[in-house]
Amino acid sequence: MTQDTATSVLVAGSGIAGCAAAILLAKAGVAVDIVESQPRERASGSGITLQGNALRVLSHLGVWDEVAEHGYGFDTLGIRAPDDNGTLIVEMPDAKTGGPDLPAAMGMERPVLAAMLREAADLAGVKSRFSTEVTTLGQDADGVDVEFSDGSRGRYDVVIGADGVKSATRRALGIDVEPAPTGMGIWRVLCSRPESITRTDLYYGGIGYIAGYCPTGEDSMYAYIVEDAQDRSGLSDVERLEIMRSLAEHYHGPWDDIRALITDASRINYTWFESHLLEEPWNRGRVVLIGDAAHVCPPTLAQGGAQALEDAAVLAELLVSMPVGADLWRTFHERRLPRAGAVVNGSLQLGQWMLDNDPAADVPGLMGRIAALVSAPA
Ligand SMILES: Cc1cc2nc3c(=O)[nH]c(=O)nc-3n(C[C@H](O)[C@H](O)[C@H](O)COP(=O)(O)OP(=O)(O)OC[C@H]3O[C@@H](n4cnc5c(N)ncnc54)[C@H](O)[C@@H]3O)c2cc1C
Repeated sequence: MTQDTATSVLVAGSGIAGCAAAILLAKAGVAVDIVESQPRERASGSGITLQGNALRVLSHLGVWDEVAEHGYGFDTLGIRAPDDNGTLIVEMPDAKTGGPDLPAAMGMERPVLAAMLREAADLAGVKSRFSTEVTTLGQDADGVDVEFSDGSRGRYDVVIGADGVKSATRRALGIDVEPAPTGMGIWRVLCSRPESITRTDLYYGGIGYIAGYCPTGEDSMYAYIVEDAQDRSGLSDVERLEIMRSLAEHYHGPWDDIRALITDASRINYTWFESHLLEEPWNRGRVVLIGDAAHVCPPTLAQGGAQALEDAAVLAELLVSMPVGADLWRTFHERRLPRAGAVVNGSLQLGQWMLDNDPAADVPGLMGRIAALVSAPA
């Protein structure tokens, strides 16, 4: 570290972005506190597909061995037809965006990934507090004064808002942006992994826009079906099971195995796709937003988590090598905005082509362009 670099950082949010930034900063000798609004054990969610560029950052964090042990890596992508046999149309090598030594993609259970990152933060010396939030932020030229919901206070060189799509930090900075629904909703289920599922296959069309699945471990996987966004609130467990199973009846091949495993409503999740992209700057003075707090894409390219990790890695690199000030923020935006923006816009475009049933859609071309972009280190 040089003399004027940040020596104390507060991170709000111990999700993917927050933990990654905290681990890298703490390993470089910065004193890092995290506050997370949820209890430690509450990390929930379905599965996540970590593309190679996400794996590259996880490897940089020093958690590759744990990721490899608990996740399920694969190097090919299948495209199947939504017909009576789930006909395999093509099996293609998936882009190795993290380099030749890492799998093209890896599925993981979200709670497993969260627990692993929080543990790595503990080991790096990060001080994490759960069920705690920032209540006030006030800054001057030299630092940020923070009050917390547990009544404590602190002063930090920099505050990182990594508190997700509904970011309270973003609101506290007076940035008036709300994610907009894209028109699609997704049913997801976590279940045990049949032997027939060893990679992601995507089915475009049929009753939904996309149906797919991803192995997340030797014994687990998640499957999903994307439909027009609709009000699915207030459904009973029985109704949720019925809807997901009846949608799944329209897909075959490995889906015939999956359907029989959709038995536990507590493992089914329904959510709308949303999107937003903050224009520059992502900081106000010494407070900066990363991950979903700064940009959200519909998961049509499965890149949201990867972009959150890249934000964290680039920000940590700059905070330990440059004085906190205009040059640092300019460099951060130059490195992050074009790339995260291209991913958000590409993800939106892909979804819009499906919504419009656009015959001119160049899906392989778009996927290839984004893969080429994210293959270069962030
Ligand atoms: C349906 C769906 C499927 C997806 N699939 C994929 C995929 O396959 N691959 C992929 O890479 N990405 C995927 N994503 C995107 C990915 O989940 C997000 O981009 C990623 O989780 C963003 O990480 P984050 O750390 O910025 O935010 P989060 O993961 O949301 O973490 C934010 C954290 O902040 C905490 N928090 C919230 N408010 C406060 C507060 N006031 N104070 C303190 N803490 C707070 C939250 O509890 C949470 O722990 C998907 C998204 C959706 C919606």
